[in-house]
Amino acid sequence: MIPAAFDYEVAESTDHAVQLLGEHGDDAKLLAGGHSLLPLMKLRLARPSVLIDIGGLSDLAYIKDAGDHVEIGALTRMCDIAASDLLRRHCGLIAEAAGQVGDPQVRHRATIGGSLAHGDPASDPPVALLTVDAELVVRGPGGERTVPASGFFTNFFETALGPQDLLTSVRVPKLAAGTGWSYQKFHRRAIDWAIVGVAALVERDDGTVKRAAVGLTNMATTPLRSAGVESALAGRPASAEAFAEAAAHAPEGTNPPSDTNASAEYRTALSSILVRRALEAAVA
Ligand SMILES: Cc1cc2nc3c(=O)[nH]c(=O)nc-3n(C[C@H](O)[C@H](O)[C@H](O)COP(=O)(O)OP(=O)(O)OC[C@H]3O[C@@H](n4cnc5c(N)ncnc54)[C@H](O)[C@@H]3O)c2cc1C
Repeated sequence: MIPAAFDYEVAESTDHAVQLLGEHGDDAKLLAGGHSLLPLMKLRLARPSVLIDIGGLSDLAYIKDAGDHVEIGALTRMCDIAASDLLRRHCGLIAEAAGQVGDPQVRHRATIGGSLAHGDPASDPPVALLTVDAELVVRGPGGERTVPASGFFTNFFETALGPQDLLTSVRVPKLAAGTGWSYQKFHRRAIDWAIVGVAALVERDDGTVKRAAVGLTNMATTPLRSAGVESALAGRPASAEAFAEAAAHAPEGTNPPSDTNASAEYRTALSSILVRRALEAAVA
């Protein structure tokens, strides 16, 4: 459980971090909270030759009102996101998902940027951000660009980030008044990753579903939106019957893993149950 030898650099600013990534090439890795990268290094599943520590970039640790959205700096810890009144007021789903990550010790180290960049389909915050159509702000050698969450997760532990890119912030749209939300996470012990998780948003107009968004955790090689459930709900009454019928579409387009926690068949059955629960909780 001892990592391979590596060099260590401390980034003094965002630009410095990008510069160091350029200098050290593809073998360098950014170090944020270290709660995903260091375990991989100890297992020798990752062997970066250089770690670039961005943990001290306090100007990337913030949650601020930016008009039509809330902006979260990439170095913001899960515990601060979970406790944010601003997020609870305008997009409580993100605070809720962050509050279900690991345990308090993990939440005090893990950052939102690290969670997204790691690209683990079993992680909770990425699915919540995909469900609310968040935008990710990336700084690279060519300057700054934004990437929609829908285009960010490209494959198993792979994202749209290039080897010299630094994720700097996440833009979370404020939800329309009256939009209900829920995050349902099924796991054996409080500290565990989701066997399956479901994020749901339901916007209603006079008892009818105006817009529904549903995201699935650990049901494919990337975080996933459930197009089948979303289209089955559009224009339907926000009723238990409609939710149950729509939830039957949850397995469509999924490719769940089988592992020591659950088989793919178990996850498939669970996804429909959790989607129904999430929809009902969103309008409760
Ligand atoms: C015991 C335990 C339980 C956990 N349980 C859960 C859980 O239930 N749910 C869950 O969602 N997660 C869980 N996690 C994962 C935890 O949330 C991760 O630590 C987090 O997702 C990664 O954030 P980090 O800041 O630690 O990133 P790091 O480990 O520092 O980095 C992870 C990866 O992201 C890259 N990176 C980091 N920041 C940036 C950036 N700003 N720009 C570009 N690349 C960057 C790094 O180079 C590295 O490749 C758990 C972790 C542990 C150890």
